[in-house]
Formats: sequence, structure tokens, C-alpha cells
Amino acid sequence: MERMVELERFTDEGSYEISLRPSGWDEYIGQEKIKKNLKVFIEASKKREEALDHILFFGPPGLGKTTIANIISTEMNANIKTTAAPMIEKAGDLAALLTNIEEGDILFIDEIHRMSPAIEEILYPAMEDFRLDIIIGSGPAAQTVKIDLPRFTLIGATTRAGMLSNPLRERFGMHFRMQFYTPDELAKIVTQASHKLEKVAQKEAAVEMARRSRGTPRIALRLLKRVRDFAEVLDEEEISLERAQYALDQLGVNNLGFDEQDIQLLELLVSAKNKPMGLSTIGAALSEDEGTIEDVLEPYLIANGYIERTARGRIATQKSYEHFKLNKQEDLFSE
Ligand code: ADP
Repeated sequence: MERMVELERFTDEGSYEISLRPSGWDEYIGQEKIKKNLKVFIEASKKREEALDHILFFGPPGLGKTTIANIISTEMNANIKTTAAPMIEKAGDLAALLTNIEEGDILFIDEIHRMSPAIEEILYPAMEDFRLDIIIGSGPAAQTVKIDLPRFTLIGATTRAGMLSNPLRERFGMHFRMQFYTPDELAKIVTQASHKLEKVAQKEAAVEMARRSRGTPRIALRLLKRVRDFAEVLDEEEISLERAQYALDQLGVNNLGFDEQDIQLLELLVSAKNKPMGLSTIGAALSEDEGTIEDVLEPYLIANGYIERTARGRIATQKSYEHFKLNKQEDLFSE
């Protein structure tokens, strides 16, 4: 079955996602502290008529990093160019991006932890001194060409703060950690989007979808879209709680928003009976890429106290044992 709470980036963001993307602060729900700070910095740099300092966002996928970068560009009346670090393979790729921007423009680089060290080296002077040093040719005939760049703002996004090199991290003037959204905030996001989709979710229905979205707007919107299909097929004008519950059950999303993979992971850790389990063991047991487990599966379970990351591996918490109606001491997994 298709993984309902999957966070794929580039495959399922059809036109509906584009139209649902908040276009300004009013529609960008939650992340209040970040919004408040950014509004001040944006106003100050507009007053000084300067480009905004470079900004780094970190947090799990689907929490609104790309969206907020776009809002910043709108607020700054700046153009935004969007790319992802794996797409910048050669020095020339980065040079092409940087020489094509105008004063005050924003360059958004997603997955910035995946930037190759050679490219990072070129990025440093570009970020710091707005200068590009390019080596042309090789051997004794090699020449360095220096190109002045307009003052631009680099916005970087990463799911892994820990994987960013220190020199790169330090060159960002502002660092923001995105938080998981509360059910209330997600309900607002679902309601707002349901109006845009012209299939209004009743309050209880929006709350139900919010509760099952793993704290993540992208998941909430995906669920909404699927639930809307159910309501549409049945010719229902609005999305009711009953329809939402029915659709979500059909889609295999459980009461807490866990899907099969979350449950497999929790079951695995619970069955280990308090013995820490390493990432590679978990990866093998779940047939899942270790990076996906770390970036996508674990953060929500950790933030909500279902698992703990220790130096020796991952362990299930009492909350997980309770979820499976087990006590830590009890050995219900043995025959
Ligand atoms: P990220 O870049 O962190 O992976 P995105 O910015 O692509 O996440 O957000 C995923 C989707 O969720 C977007 O298409 C947007 O419509 C929605 N979204 C994200 N954050 C918010 C928010 N704070 N308020 C409303 N919708 C949001």
C-alpha cells in the first residue's frame, strides 16, 4: 500500500500544492517565534535598503521551509531562485546561478547539507564578500578570475543540522529551527486549504485530519486532498467528521497519525525490551534507508516522546509501551 504519511518532495506536489501554498504571513500558520523575528529583520533591512542576511532553516521535511523562503522573497520584493544542493554538481553550476542574480535577490538552496565540499569552498567568498573566485584552466596556466556579485541573500534549508559543516553554518547570519505544528495550528491549515479547494472541512473533520498528520502541514494537506476525494465521490458538499474518519481509516492512517512504518519501528523497539538498537539494525529490519529513518520517521516520534535516541542506539519509551498496552517489564513478546 502507498505510504500515506510519506513525505515525498518532488513527486506529489502537483498544481494543488502550488495553489495551497500560503502567499503571505497571514496564511502562514504557526512558527510564531520565527515569524516574529523575521518580520523585524525584514523591516530593518528594508529600512536600510540592504539585502537580508543569509538565513538557515532546519527541521524535518514538510514543515514549511520552502514556503517561508518564498514569503520572505515576497516581503522583500525580491526575486527568488530555487535549487537543491544535489543539483549543483560542478563549480560552473553554482557560478551560473550566482552570476544570474540581481541585487537583493534570494537564492534558496534546499538540502544544503548535501553540498559537495568543493562547491562549499566557492560558496564561502560568495556569501561573505559577494565575490566569486573561479579557476580557469589547469596546471601552470591556471588562472583565478574574480567576479563581483550583487549583494544577495542565501536561504539554506536542511533536514540535518548536524551534517552541515561548521564553516558553512557560521556564514549564515540567522538560524531557525522549525517546530512540529500543534493540532490546533494544523486544523487551521486544513480549514484554510479546504476553503481554497472549495470543499469546506467541518470543524471536527479538520481537527481529525490535524490530529493524524504527524505535526506536519504537508501531510495534513495530503490527507485533506484524499479525504476530499471520498466526499466528492459521495456528492457531499462539505467534509464531515464521519467522512474524514472513514477515509483516514481506509487510507491506513491510525489514530495518532502513525502509519505502518511508524508502527513497525515502534514494535521493533518495544520488542527489544529496553535494549538500545542501532540505526543500521533498524534499517535492515524495516528495509528502509537509514537517512529516511533519521530524517522522516524518527523526528516526530522523538519530539512526541515515543522513542529516545541514546549514544548506544534507540529505545522505546514508556509511552510506546503504553501505546501497545505493554509494560516495560512484561515480556509479552515471548511465547
Ligand atoms: P519544506 O520545505 O519544509 O519541506 P514546504 O514549505 O514545502 O516544506 O511545505 C509543505 C506544504 O505545506 C506547502 O506546500 C505548504 O502549502 C504547506 N505549509 C507549510 N507550512 C505551512 C504553514 N505554516 N501554514 C500553512 N501551510 C503550510
